[in-house]
Amino acid sequence: MRKVEHIGIAVKSLTRSVQLFEKILDCQAYKMETIASEKVSVAFFRQGETKVELLESLEAGSPLSKFIAKNGEGIHHIAFGVENLEAEMERLQAAGFVLLNGTPKPGGDGKMVCFLHPKETAGVLIELCADKPGE
Ligand code: ZN
Repeated sequence: MRKVEHIGIAVKSLTRSVQLFEKILDCQAYKMETIASEKVSVAFFRQGETKVELLESLEAGSPLSKFIAKNGEGIHHIAFGVENLEAEMERLQAAGFVLLNGTPKPGGDGKMVCFLHPKETAGVLIELCADKPGE
């Protein structure tokens, strides 16, 4: 694990929240994209080494829309940057953690990602992310 790569925040309206975080962070979102496999639209801000990811659900019934229905808007996950995603997934699985995806999948901002089940991680959804090979 190298660092906190980004903090994911669940929002109801990406448009409204992008404006809000532009004021808070005093900078513009540098990327907006749709992650079809996760049924979310996201916006990224960079603050030094760390990023903030705002996530809006694209579809009723998606995991993110269930999260917002249950918890409201707020911190959704913490993402740690790792050097070798497969090796970290193996290490954590061997240590008894449950991976929400058994193989790395494409995430936001050009990363490959894996999520850990929050029931073993003090209720915090943890994302591991690594640069895609060759990026
Ligand atoms: Zn994330």
